[in-house]
Amino acid sequence: MRNLRSTQLLFQLSKPGRRCVRLPEPDVPVRALDELLPADAVAETPPPLPELAEPDVVRHFTNLSQRNMSVDTHFYPLGSCTMKYNPKRNERLASLPGLADVHPFQPEETLQGLLRLLFELQQLLAEISGLPAVTLQPAAGAHGELTALMVAAAYFRELDEKRTKVLAPDSAHGTNPASARMAGFQSVTVRSTAASYVDMDDLRSKLDDSIAVFMITNPNTLGLFDGQVAGIAELVHERGGLIYLDGANMNAILGIARPGDFGADMMHFNPHKTFSGPHGGGGPGAGPVCVTEKLGVYLPAPIVDCDGERYSLCFDRPKSIGRVRSFYGNVGVLVRAYCYILTHGPDGLRRVAENAVLNANYLLSRLRHFLPVPQGDRCMHEFVATAESLKKQRGITAMDIAKRLLDYGFHAPTVYFPLTVPEAIMVEPTETESKETLDAFAETMFRITEESLELLHEAPHTTVISRPDEVKAARTPVMKWTAD
Ligand SMILES: *Cc1c(COP(=O)(O)O)cnc(C)c1O
Repeated sequence: MRNLRSTQLLFQLSKPGRRCVRLPEPDVPVRALDELLPADAVAETPPPLPELAEPDVVRHFTNLSQRNMSVDTHFYPLGSCTMKYNPKRNERLASLPGLADVHPFQPEETLQGLLRLLFELQQLLAEISGLPAVTLQPAAGAHGELTALMVAAAYFRELDEKRTKVLAPDSAHGTNPASARMAGFQSVTVRSTAASYVDMDDLRSKLDDSIAVFMITNPNTLGLFDGQVAGIAELVHERGGLIYLDGANMNAILGIARPGDFGADMMHFNPHKTFSGPHGGGGPGAGPVCVTEKLGVYLPAPIVDCDGERYSLCFDRPKSIGRVRSFYGNVGVLVRAYCYILTHGPDGLRRVAENAVLNANYLLSRLRHFLPVPQGDRCMHEFVATAESLKKQRGITAMDIAKRLLDYGFHAPTVYFPLTVPEAIMVEPTETESKETLDAFAETMFRITEESLELLHEAPHTTVISRPDEVKAARTPVMKWTAD
């Protein structure tokens, strides 16, 4: 049955004269508004605000807040997004007054604690990535991609080389070609083999002196580690190009492999994925970028520096591409990442990756009997199943499964991405889920494939709205209430 909890807006709940607070009669002389404010600052009619009692307001917003699924309420196996549990301890630490209540215009001497934290985070990310120069400024993964490509452009400008193209495999996240275009490059797609690795022949045929950067996600969006990556890097480097590693999938290789060691010249981290920053609903995130020594000079200014005693912001960077974000980036997200990394330590980070891979493989082995996984019987931190045969045989699509899962209290996996797999269902359980949760999910998935089409095509049945036109909802959202 559809959830009938009030779908009314505050404006519709409004009753004239209703109030949250009633103040006593004043015991001082009352002065008219126009005595206190210039006449043109006083509205002729009061603003059309809803009039409500406090319980109405509290219930309205509390009920709204519970319509969402979140990592704190539901299993959230959204492939490529690493929706792992966000430890509450990091929230407490990030809201300590010395971190949360400081102002970026305070004198540096009064920000030494925060600057030290950011400096050490730069060092930790350099160690984890194997790339020594770091900026914390970018505000998201995609912004990190753009920043790194601007760094590459500055590097080639200085070499006086005209390189106009950026390569990315067809399985790449959509942000890769988009960032390439925004940084002024032409984006060129490299084909994948049937096994979903980079097609080396296609790569060779597209490699020439016009290639600035090859962007690779490894493990890739199919949850496969492309073992050719060092060879790819060698080929690209021979032609004078750079390797960019999209680090969104670092959760699979933390403490096990370092991009700098397998050929990357630049990479971004997604602290809101890998280091458990809360995310969803568009932010805030961060996208720290790590690069090789020779590219370090082009990174945005300022960088956090230390002379052995005092921490400071270094603006003296003549070759820098300049700022990409105000102040030092989204500091709150960075503080959480710092706490997460120090809490785990090197061994703990390695165990994070091992358990993320173990959980994904366990789930893969439970699902593949009824939901084929075309790319093999093993994966890294995520895998992509396909509902293609279910669709052909029974008319059940990836969308039906995703929608029906909501009725059973599971957030849907990523569907219809990557584009290279038809009816794709991309599952990333993360390391923070128990065997019981994974079992319950696998059993529910199986149960859904046995359900009737009438039930599935109308799903979800328990949410406030069922199947909105998603494109229309995103492109032309109705943000304003009008009485008619
Ligand atoms: C999430 C993701 C991105 C983009 O990161 P944002 O922080 O969302 O901008 C880029 N590439 C891959 C593979 C991703 O999963």
